[in-house]
Amino acid sequence: MKNCIVIGGGIIGLCSAYYLAKAGHRVTVLDKSDLSDGCSYGNAGMIVPSHFIPLAQPGMIGKGIRWMFNSKSPFYVQPRLSADLLQWGMTFYQHANAKHVEASKQALLDLSLMSKDLYKDLAAARPDIFYQEKGLLMLYQSEKVGEEEIEVGEMAKTLGVDVDFLDQQGVQQLEAGVQLNALGGVHFKSDAHLYPNALMSFLKQEVEKIGVEIIRNTFVESIEKTNGKITGLKTANQTYTADEFVLCAGSWSPLLAKQLGIKIQLLPGKGYSFNISDQENNLPTIPSILCEGKVAVSPFKNSVRFGGTMEITQVKNTGINLNRVEGIVNTVNSFYPEINLETPDSKEVWSGFRPCTPTGMPIISRNNKYSNLTICTGHGMMGISLGPASGKLVEEIISEQKTTVDINRFTE
Ligand SMILES: Cc1cc2nc3c(=O)[nH]c(=O)nc-3n(C[C@H](O)[C@H](O)[C@H](O)COP(=O)(O)OP(=O)(O)OC[C@H]3O[C@@H](n4cnc5c(N)ncnc54)[C@H](O)[C@@H]3O)c2cc1C
Repeated sequence: MKNCIVIGGGIIGLCSAYYLAKAGHRVTVLDKSDLSDGCSYGNAGMIVPSHFIPLAQPGMIGKGIRWMFNSKSPFYVQPRLSADLLQWGMTFYQHANAKHVEASKQALLDLSLMSKDLYKDLAAARPDIFYQEKGLLMLYQSEKVGEEEIEVGEMAKTLGVDVDFLDQQGVQQLEAGVQLNALGGVHFKSDAHLYPNALMSFLKQEVEKIGVEIIRNTFVESIEKTNGKITGLKTANQTYTADEFVLCAGSWSPLLAKQLGIKIQLLPGKGYSFNISDQENNLPTIPSILCEGKVAVSPFKNSVRFGGTMEITQVKNTGINLNRVEGIVNTVNSFYPEINLETPDSKEVWSGFRPCTPTGMPIISRNNKYSNLTICTGHGMMGISLGPASGKLVEEIISEQKTTVDINRFTE
């Protein structure tokens, strides 16, 4: 049994705490917030073995440049003179190729499938997290985008993923209650989704029930170290000591790592979401991505959440850019002509910072400079999807066990 401190109580920190405590370790979670909101709450809640292709992939550079000049586009890099941004962009550029996809896809798929299995256990214990296995429908309107999606679907099939290719009629039949304006869709039948807000409530309750201490509103200011070991975490009121430290601070992780002389290449990718309730319209029932606008559609119990856009920015940039929200609205109205959304008021819009590495791969590793530090962050667009597997791997690393899946691709 080891004393462990987890920095950050988002999905990754809580999953790490959960599996560490279940394995018999003594765990404390420190978080600067009151754990009522953040990136792990207002997201789309999709669990996506279909997403085995990292964000850094062929074609992304060209698309990114085109999107940069459109204020309503799904992807944007806030221009600024910064060495971190320049380095992030260079690394992204070096990895946006077929070789990187080839080398990463199996590792990502294995991690996703491990997570999905763990979700099944969690969902059996708590049906109110609204876990459902309806798959994920990649809807497209143009032949060109359709070709790209079908290519991914074909690749998925070779990896054993269950995929259906649907034409216009096929997608409309599947989503019979709402009028669809799509040329076709690729249905990844092994994907799932859940209600992330309920998942986070469940995890907070569950970890406390099994003995984890969550210390809220406690900002880790600095990290003390000596002889290749971390010795304590300094907060405003006290210094916390432990045998093991886990860094799961999402988009803020590089700031803490920097104090240790560790370079984590990670930038916040801001995204937005908002919900509408089913009293207003006939709404979609199958989780979907509206491919041309990269908008995620997640049907929950009494509402549907629309989410999207990726603004590579800084954590201090917390404002809501209604132009980008309007981009989401326009995409929804174009795919579901009957819904007829209006751009919501900014106070109705949620935003969160995805912790994005330039390779599109998460970091789940024992640090080689500090023997009692494990880093688990950088899950980008897939923190919910990969959360349980990441937390379980953190536990296996700290318990000095063979990891369930190979983690060699998940290093800083
Ligand atoms: C619009 C949108 C849609 C998304 N949809 C999906 C989806 O469908 N499926 C999916 O898998 N993922 C999705 N994501 C991504 C997912 O939400 C993130 O990957 C995930 O929430 C990241 O979790 P995290 O625990 O790493 O970080 P966070 O949730 O940001 O948690 C980090 C925690 O660390 C704390 N912290 C930071 N610094 C300190 C410090 N110095 N001291 C103490 N505490 C600190 C913070 O307060 C925070 O609570 C989406 C994201 C967005 C924005």
